[in-house]
Amino acid sequence: MAEGICYVCNQSFSAANKDAAIEKIVEHMMAAHHGGIWGDAMQAKNAFAKCPVCDADIGKPFAKCPSCGADLIEQYARKVVSRYVH
Ligand SMILES: [Zn+2]
Ligand SMILES: [Zn+2]
Repeated sequence: MAEGICYVCNQSFSAANKDAAIEKIVEHMMAAHHGGIWGDAMQAKNAFAKCPVCDADIGKPFAKCPSCGADLIEQYARKVVSRYVH
């Protein structure tokens, strides 16, 4: 069992394992708090150095990876959520 919370609204989620819990919370956040996550992901300090999907150099806030088109808002949510799942 893994448990985690949405760090925006503190709703708690549980799932069979950590990966499944992260999926659930990311899905919830993209549906319920997309605007807030967008705002966080678009801050220069939160920009990815490299795309988590294709490993291209990024270094600036982008909504989508300029190389592979991965949704970097969702990738940002995933990165942050992983800290809130135990
Ligand atoms: Zn929430
Ligand atoms: Zn990419």
